[in-house]
Amino acid sequence: MKFRAAVLNAVGGPLTIDELEMQPLAPRDVLVRVRASGLCHTDLEAIQGTLSYPLPIVLGHEGAGVVEAVGAEVTQVRPGDHVILSWNPHCGHCFYCENDQPILCEPFTRHQPRGRLLDGTTRMLRDGAPVHHYSVTSTHAQFTVVPESGAIPVPKEIPFDRACIIGCGVMTGVGAVVRKARLAAGASVVVIGCGAVGLNALQGARLVGAGRIIAVDVGGEKLERARRFGATDTIDATEADTVQVVKSLTEGRGADCVIEAAGRSQVFRLAGEAVRPGGQVIWLGKVNVDEEVSFRWGSLMGERRIVRSSYGDARPRRDFPWLANEYLRGHLMLDEPITRRIRLDEINDGFASLARGEGIRTVIEFD
Ligand SMILES: [Zn+2]
Ligand SMILES: [Zn+2]
Repeated sequence: MKFRAAVLNAVGGPLTIDELEMQPLAPRDVLVRVRASGLCHTDLEAIQGTLSYPLPIVLGHEGAGVVEAVGAEVTQVRPGDHVILSWNPHCGHCFYCENDQPILCEPFTRHQPRGRLLDGTTRMLRDGAPVHHYSVTSTHAQFTVVPESGAIPVPKEIPFDRACIIGCGVMTGVGAVVRKARLAAGASVVVIGCGAVGLNALQGARLVGAGRIIAVDVGGEKLERARRFGATDTIDATEADTVQVVKSLTEGRGADCVIEAAGRSQVFRLAGEAVRPGGQVIWLGKVNVDEEVSFRWGSLMGERRIVRSSYGDARPRRDFPWLANEYLRGHLMLDEPITRRIRLDEINDGFASLARGEGIRTVIEFD
């Protein structure tokens, strides 16, 4: 079958909208008609070359759509199901899957960086030549093929544009607080960096009934937005000493949990200074893999726990329906994070505005 997709041909872009051909389904494949897909910073990293992938490649890893067809051995989804795609499909039986760390699944970590599906092959062709899959999802396309463990059925009541953002930004931010940190009701939490993931961490803190929810960023507009997503207190890092203010809001101890969602080395350091002894820091942001990060040794003392999380400890089959239902019950804000809707042909403009830091989430809508 033929379909249209945005293809990255060279670092720096632009993406070209091309007609691709999908090869026949393997037994565990799921063919999804994509209905909505977000533009995420990690896609941008592939365009800018800070994340290196084989080219050409179809980007996009935050998608929702309808199951069009399934391979002969698929049992967990059926045609017609509405699904959110997981960018961390996993085999379920390797060393890491057996140790309940699916984010490290061996087939996933082996084949994902090579732009392949979990079985080590590709399905998309352009003029007869292979096109690579991005994070085993490739959602900036009218159709995509994913492994069965990457297609998660959710209630049909949730609109596709709202559903798609659950697949990366919402899961990563809410999951960091609820699943990774397991923040308790009444606990204090600091979220540094109020972009898409940080705002979702604030939502996660509100969902679990955190006590003080302290948002840190630069500029009144971002902090005003943070309040709408659940912050009880805000700190403008250019105007105040963040660590001093956090301590003054937490009886001098520091916060129970600090979420780093800014992706800056100084903020990794700051997170360690703002957490209380015995508390935990969750690093969500990223810096260049060769960049050095330094710490004051004393800030690491006192039984503090520092954890890196890339997908909020996601168990998509458990978490995506949960998050969809929290939205349907009015507990999770998914309307507000979508600040722009575009067509596939406008994708280069969408990424340009993401690179300029505009809005929260841009979502591509497909027919
Ligand atoms: Zn993402
Ligand atoms: Zn595995």
